[in-house]
Amino acid sequence: MHLFKEGLRAILVGALMVFSLTPAMAQDKLALQAPVGKKMRAIDSVALQRLIGDEELENPAYSLYPEWNNTYVHRYAGVELPTEYKIDMRNFCMPTDRTKITSRYGYRPRFRRYHKGIDVKVYIGDTIRAAFDGKVRIVAFERRGYGNYVVIRHPNGLETVYGHLSRHLVKANEVVKAGEPIGLGGNTGRSTGSHLHFETRLLGEPINPEYLFNFEAQDVTCDYYMFRANGSGYVMGPHSGSKATLAQMEAEAQKAAKARESRKFQTEKRTRAAAQIHRVRKGESLYVIAKKHGITVNKLCKLNRISTTTTLRPGQILRLS
Ligand SMILES: [Zn+2]
Repeated sequence: MHLFKEGLRAILVGALMVFSLTPAMAQDKLALQAPVGKKMRAIDSVALQRLIGDEELENPAYSLYPEWNNTYVHRYAGVELPTEYKIDMRNFCMPTDRTKITSRYGYRPRFRRYHKGIDVKVYIGDTIRAAFDGKVRIVAFERRGYGNYVVIRHPNGLETVYGHLSRHLVKANEVVKAGEPIGLGGNTGRSTGSHLHFETRLLGEPINPEYLFNFEAQDVTCDYYMFRANGSGYVMGPHSGSKATLAQMEAEAQKAAKARESRKFQTEKRTRAAAQIHRVRKGESLYVIAKKHGITVNKLCKLNRISTTTTLRPGQILRLS
């Protein structure tokens, strides 16, 4: 039995080496190729899966990333983004149980720069958790930016960034499980008021975290998210129930907001316009009209170049400002 175990181990280690050398090779194919009997194959696949799991956490998404460094958050120079990349969103953990978003992803005209993540209101000392299993890539401090921050690379291809922490609770190159505390909420770096700055990136390319996570609902948006280099990524799986891409949904929401804003503006404009004139009704005196609009008779007369003794005609238009 012992020998058998040793033999199995040798096969597994050998198989793992092959696996490491050819990252694109699927594990099922690998299991089929192993020269083992039916009974052994069953044991093999369980043990192999566990080993591959460990291996994956030691080298998360290694077929996607050209390198591992403990320094840079952003894009890897000269590395092309995949046209499509399916991101497994299952087995997640919300980084915080707080639900209030204080700043969304996107261009901020006031600062003339992109906000490449979202800000969630958290309080100093709040526990911040790893969103998925993964390996801590960066633990650092950036005075003018992220403050104390942590970057984790996950086997699903994503990298998550957690900024403005008051404390780190992990070290670089440490393997973490989804939900493991990685830091405490804070207000370090370029931050006014304690919050969590949370980013989701693929190969350094930022993705709107709200395409993936719904902090209000404390849930992910989908089981799988199809990243697309041209920006037309979309949600997949039973979580979504919708074939519409999130970019489309966002565009619709923006359009609706714009229309709402425009309607409001038009109404206000009409109200304002209506308020600035008065159409004289039968029997109305200057005194009554002035009182109705909260101005003095003298002002009303001055605005309309009439005297206090002028007789008003019904239907006459009087200026009020
Ligand atoms: Zn932010």
